Amino acid sequence: MSRVLNFSAGPAALPESVLRRAAEEMLDWHGTGVSVMEMSHRSAAFQSIYTQAEADFRELLGVPSNYRILFMQGGAIAENAIIPMNLLGDKRVADYVVTGSWSAKSQKEARKFAEVNIAASSESTGFTTIPAMEQWQLSADPAYVFICSNETIVGVEYGFDPDLAKIGRAGLPLVADMSSNILSRPMDVSRYGLIFGGAQKNIGPAGLTFVIVREDLLGKAHQDCPSAFDYKLVAENESMYNTPPTYAIYIAGLVFQWLRAQGGLEAMAERNAAKAALLYDTIDASGFYENRIDRACRSRMNVPFLLRDESLNSVFLEESAAAGLVQLKGHKSVGGMRASIYNAMPITGVQALVDFMLDFEKRKG
Ligand SMILES: *Cc1c(COP(=O)(O)O)cnc(C)c1O
Repeated sequence: MSRVLNFSAGPAALPESVLRRAAEEMLDWHGTGVSVMEMSHRSAAFQSIYTQAEADFRELLGVPSNYRILFMQGGAIAENAIIPMNLLGDKRVADYVVTGSWSAKSQKEARKFAEVNIAASSESTGFTTIPAMEQWQLSADPAYVFICSNETIVGVEYGFDPDLAKIGRAGLPLVADMSSNILSRPMDVSRYGLIFGGAQKNIGPAGLTFVIVREDLLGKAHQDCPSAFDYKLVAENESMYNTPPTYAIYIAGLVFQWLRAQGGLEAMAERNAAKAALLYDTIDASGFYENRIDRACRSRMNVPFLLRDESLNSVFLEESAAAGLVQLKGHKSVGGMRASIYNAMPITGVQALVDFMLDFEKRKG
């Protein structure tokens, strides 16, 4: 068996110890004689897995007691529609801050349900920055304000939890797509009305969607909203209105336990900062590689970089793959390379990438 260093943006690398544990438990979970995949979601065994996963997620992130954690299906892209269906209530307008391809996609989908106001956009810069909150032009009475906390494709990240009170709009629910930076650092959940994302970047397998929603936002779903996507129904049924993605929840639970054993989110934040600094410092010190994102907004999770000589792109990818460093090709809309360095990527993996990059530069630069 040989495992590579996997820089995939998602589905992404998982901690090896989690995969080993899942392999050990695959055929017979804790003496039940069945795999977690074969369990009724209503069985006591699965209920214990679910309850532990929910409690660990809540503790890691410090989710206050007036927030519900929902485990759903459909991914973050489905939530782009499910959110306006649930949060608009009797309002018409929703405000979106567009900072990259994912928030651009979110506001486009929301137009099926709401009148969308683009409160701010960094598109004219080529999505290299995050517009300052003081410049957001919020509408008079929006149902919510939407952001993407980490733009996985272009590589910009909010390094802070936006406080709408600071711009005089304390009561407004802030909604955040955290697909690709959830659990990467401690955060203040109380700044948000709703946090959501797909699990396959920083939590577990694809197929699981997490939604963390403040209780007062439940119960406003549009009458046409499918029942399985009505947050109130999902919350009332402990995410078991329909069959939840049981195996994905189990793996997510193992990842939460792994995170706790690593020292929780403070420890992850330190490690993630060190990993990102190592990679960005290498890029910035070189005349061979380049990253064009404003330094203050650079993603710690997804590091896009260009080779100044683009004709070397394919040989860079071939040689890095041969060295066991895979999935470094940038998204087609950005080009160049992208290294996704989520929680499960150890600093030794980033060091191996940096060593390869320096050697490649020495040989080809
Ligand atoms: C990956 C990603 C998505 C898409 O998630 P799906 O699970 O494919 O729906 C949406 N938003 C962000 C920020 C992402 O990183």
